[in-house]
Amino acid sequence: MGAYESVKCPDCGGEMISRTGKFGVFWGCRDFPRCKGTRDSEGRSKADREKYKEEQQRERDTYDRDVEWHRNKEDNIHWNKK
Ligand SMILES: [Zn+2]
Repeated sequence: MGAYESVKCPDCGGEMISRTGKFGVFWGCRDFPRCKGTRDSEGRSKADREKYKEEQQRERDTYDRDVEWHRNKEDNIHWNKK
């Protein structure tokens, strides 16, 4: 079982070939230029990368909200002590 076999084109499901581009190594569809499917060196497709970015952003947003919530709560506690 090779790692290469698990890399399938996100667009057509075909085989992918390791290529080196401006941003380093990535996977390109064997049918390029007919098919523009790519994956990064970790096998993530463009959609996967965007989903990953969104998840990171959501986590950050949640963290910011939690921090804000705790800050407000502490403010209220201080306020109630007065
Ligand atoms: Zn393809």
